[in-house]
Amino acid sequence: MIGKAFPLRIMRIGRETIICGLLLIWGSTICYAQIVKKSQKKKLVYKEIFIPTPNFDRNRKNKPTGVILHHTAEPTIKRSLGVLTSLKKKVGTHVVIDTDGTRYIMAAPEIAVYHAGYSILNGREGCNNFTIGIEFQGNTLEAPLTNDQIRSAIEYLIPLLSKYEIPLSNIVTHKMVRDAYKRKYPKKRCSGKVDITELEYRKFMKSIRQLVKRRKVESEK
Ligand SMILES: [Zn+2]
Repeated sequence: MIGKAFPLRIMRIGRETIICGLLLIWGSTICYAQIVKKSQKKKLVYKEIFIPTPNFDRNRKNKPTGVILHHTAEPTIKRSLGVLTSLKKKVGTHVVIDTDGTRYIMAAPEIAVYHAGYSILNGREGCNNFTIGIEFQGNTLEAPLTNDQIRSAIEYLIPLLSKYEIPLSNIVTHKMVRDAYKRKYPKKRCSGKVDITELEYRKFMKSIRQLVKRRKVESEK
């Protein structure tokens, strides 16, 4: 009797151990996948460096409803950061994006930095109080935006567009908001703006629209 029951019990114990083991592996795999997914979600592709600008309105808060794209027109990132932190120049931005995609964060979106000057967006004047300013390192009249600059700007913008419920149609260029101002006040003496070129703007908008559309399709799956 003992001789027959013994291997049976061993088999039963063996089967239970295998099932328990498999369940354990399955459980920990799911757990690990979730941890990896979470960490991938948080991980930024492009590096962020914080360099605050002193050039902002201390009496107002920015309530972002739009985004204005600029280029710095400076030959190096060092020169751009010098200008954007100079008290004499009185120009700032929320972020400068270098050609390798590195983001220099200069102010939180709620800060009303001096980036747009005389400007009108959707009939509203004073864009510094209701837009986010993005400066691309370089001059789009001389060289196109790099793919890293476009990807980095999109990585920076996507969470902000959803946080402030900014529609893609409210992403514009400095030239667009200055031209609108000059149309309304043709006699006012203020410089025209060229940043950023229409070609680079269209390229940027195409990329961000594609990404938003792809994300929408993925979330509906
Ligand atoms: Zn500009």
